[in-house]
Amino acid sequence: MTDTITGLDLTKRLIAFDTINPPGDEAECFKYLASLLEPAGYELTWHDWRPNRPNLIARLPATEPEKRAPLVYSGHVDTVPLGQAKWSVDPFAGEIKDGRLYGRGTSDMKAGVAAFVVAALRLAEIEVRHAEIQLVITSGEETGCEGALALAASGLLSDCAALVIAEPTDNRALCGHKGALWMNLVHEGVTAHGSMPDKGRNAIFAAVESIERLRGHDFGIKPHQVMGGPTLNIGNMQAGLNVNSVPDLARVGVDIRSVVGQTNAEIRSDLQRVLGDQVRVEPLTDMDNVFTDFDDPWMSQVFATTKEILGTDPEVATATYFTDASVLKPAMGNPPTLIMGPGTMAMAHQTDEYCEVGLIDPCIDVFTRLGRDHVA
Ligand SMILES: [Zn+2]
Repeated sequence: MTDTITGLDLTKRLIAFDTINPPGDEAECFKYLASLLEPAGYELTWHDWRPNRPNLIARLPATEPEKRAPLVYSGHVDTVPLGQAKWSVDPFAGEIKDGRLYGRGTSDMKAGVAAFVVAALRLAEIEVRHAEIQLVITSGEETGCEGALALAASGLLSDCAALVIAEPTDNRALCGHKGALWMNLVHEGVTAHGSMPDKGRNAIFAAVESIERLRGHDFGIKPHQVMGGPTLNIGNMQAGLNVNSVPDLARVGVDIRSVVGQTNAEIRSDLQRVLGDQVRVEPLTDMDNVFTDFDDPWMSQVFATTKEILGTDPEVATATYFTDASVLKPAMGNPPTLIMGPGTMAMAHQTDEYCEVGLIDPCIDVFTRLGRDHVA
């Protein structure tokens, strides 16, 4: 037995690293994780997609001929900024009050990363292993899965049997999440003096026409039994420089959340058809939806494990946010994908973020069992 660090201690160590993104400087945090994983037998592949912005793939090879593809645990180590409001605790000190560990990134998602790293260290002690255990740890998630996108493009990822994304779910075993397609609709016009609008072409009128076309847009898809229907929101609009000119540019920000049965690429081409060629679409964020069926054999195994260890009944539910799974799942052969972590879902991105200390160890137990069953 090696001296294994506890999930709580590791979470505290991880939040002490300032990995606020932007700007994002996760390198020291990664070096620390590597210093735990490498001596335990993990083979490390570094992927620096920008200076001081690594992704890390850690592989614990099988000791026997492989019976199945790897089981992959994944999480990001960057966090969102502290926000405008003043914190009542030091966001990097790891203070514990009333069973809650406070700090930026405790819930989203350093407790989740800590949980699977501790599980990974336990799995390394199994002497006979018939499959590989793999960790895919990313940077730059909070600014649109930048790290995961670069990693997927690098060709370093390979197919796996199942994927665990340890984002905060209060230890609920979730089957996926909606997709997100954020974009600007750009309308160009011709400027003129405000007293002679007939000499110009008003970009705001073009934008209003687009907005009218999108109001009540029918995606032509039945609501999904778990995710419900897709949504479309117009979130912002920027147009015009002054009141006495004809505006020659109008941007309309659209936020679409997609569901099973839709791809973002299809939605985009559909919208372009509705809006016409005059409207230029500038994509901002493009994350496909993620879903694994309840009756998938591996998902059934997950539910049996959470029932046994946590005492919770299986539920088919999805997360409200999107995750690196949008990028990693398709890049790793579309394996069944579980979203589960000890963080508190409602605490993500909040002032005075905390996680419930009592959820960390049970999550480690679930992750360890899933890995143990996988390599058996
Ligand atoms: Zn997160």
